[in-house]
Amino acid sequence: MNSLQNLKEEALLCKKCKLHTTRNQVVFGEGNPNAQLMFIGEGPGRQEDLSGRPFIGKAGELLTRLIERAMGFSREDVYIANITKCRPTVDLKFEKDRAPDKEEVEACSPYLLNQIEIIQPKVIVTLGNPSTRFILNTNEGITSMRGKWSKYKEIPVMPTYHPSYILRNGGDSSNAQKQMWSDMLQVLEKLGKNPKVNIKWK
Ligand code: SF4
Repeated sequence: MNSLQNLKEEALLCKKCKLHTTRNQVVFGEGNPNAQLMFIGEGPGRQEDLSGRPFIGKAGELLTRLIERAMGFSREDVYIANITKCRPTVDLKFEKDRAPDKEEVEACSPYLLNQIEIIQPKVIVTLGNPSTRFILNTNEGITSMRGKWSKYKEIPVMPTYHPSYILRNGGDSSNAQKQMWSDMLQVLEKLGKNPKVNIKWK
């Protein structure tokens, strides 16, 4: 049993924060334990909470298109995880998703940091404000951070928009999506990989 599996088994039983009281499933993260590329979001949404898998709702579909049709990886090639492993919802009533609060991030983030330590990706992509701020220890917003390389320890980090932001701001062919794609072109260049398609990937 590898240490990623041990960590997952620990997370599946975790009650370290209040989110355990409303979760259906713990969403540990999934993908290649030796992935070169790791995507990090903020927390599971409704579909993810029900299935136990990260990024499988509408935003996940967009991310998967980006990874598979445009970048030319399969989801199994990369690793996808969130800061919190249980779904944060408004008032814990399962009505609406929200970003994890400080207490939840403090309780859950050791799982993510251990995942990074074990996987040792060559590049990390942070998706949206919460994961970018957490990984890069900054208060800067994603609009000013995206598209610029930073580092977590010695690992290059490319912040970009969360796919749900793309969906809220025009979706396919929107300016936000083009900006996200230009960020991913930088990631591919860093990994020495050619894109599968250019600009549009619908
Ligand atoms: S969100 Fe993280 S810390 Fe909180 S109960 Fe779930 S696994 Fe544990």
